Amino acid sequence: MILEEKKKILIDYLVRNNILKTKKIIKAFKTVQREKFVLPKYKTHAYIDEPLPILDGQTISQPTTIAIMTEALEPKTGQKILEIGAGSGYQAAILSKVVGARGKIYTIERLEKLYKYAKRKLRNYKNVKVIHGDGSKGYEERAPFDRIIVTAAAPKLPEKLFDQLKENGVLIAPVGSGMQQRMLKIRKIRGKKKEEDLGSFVFVPLVGEFGH
Ligand code: SAM
Repeated sequence: MILEEKKKILIDYLVRNNILKTKKIIKAFKTVQREKFVLPKYKTHAYIDEPLPILDGQTISQPTTIAIMTEALEPKTGQKILEIGAGSGYQAAILSKVVGARGKIYTIERLEKLYKYAKRKLRNYKNVKVIHGDGSKGYEERAPFDRIIVTAAAPKLPEKLFDQLKENGVLIAPVGSGMQQRMLKIRKIRGKKKEEDLGSFVFVPLVGEFGH
């Protein structure tokens, strides 16, 4: 089966099961080529609903997880979004398509090899800036953000990230130190946290000053 057919089957599955719901997000999943973000040897696996190894023991998350997190984030055209954990760059590419040319994605990666990998993969995404550094502190230089998405798990939510969120902004983060973490959706309402638990997930650790 050719990749385009596998891609269609995966996206149809995500839509049928109400995991992908929003028109703009579905369009982004259709446009972005996941096969360009996985390692060449996994190209034929790009549309299997599983996480895949990238460099330095890290992973590109499972399509279902990326769909759940992207929908929960409620990204809108023109927004400024911060991602912690650029990894392969795929999640940033999806968000780039959703926010469009008037929006901006800042994505931070702590591992140099992956920072370079993501930067190369995202070179044609003009509204994405890839940053090398410790994202557990957020990105003060460009704060506040409309949305913040964390793609690695911290033992507890780094408060600096919540501080860098705009009023009515949404932050999505897996939190917990065991083998599994809870995915939290946090909205800032009158400066306070309104928290929702989206269930249990497995993520690589967030390593840094406010991580592990
Ligand atoms: N969003 C990525 C994608 O679409 O491929 C998947 C990211 S992977 C599950 C998590 C990433 O977070 C890893 O690349 C890891 O190196 C990175 N990471 C862990 N701690 C970090 C930190 N403090 N700051 C920035 N990146 C971090």
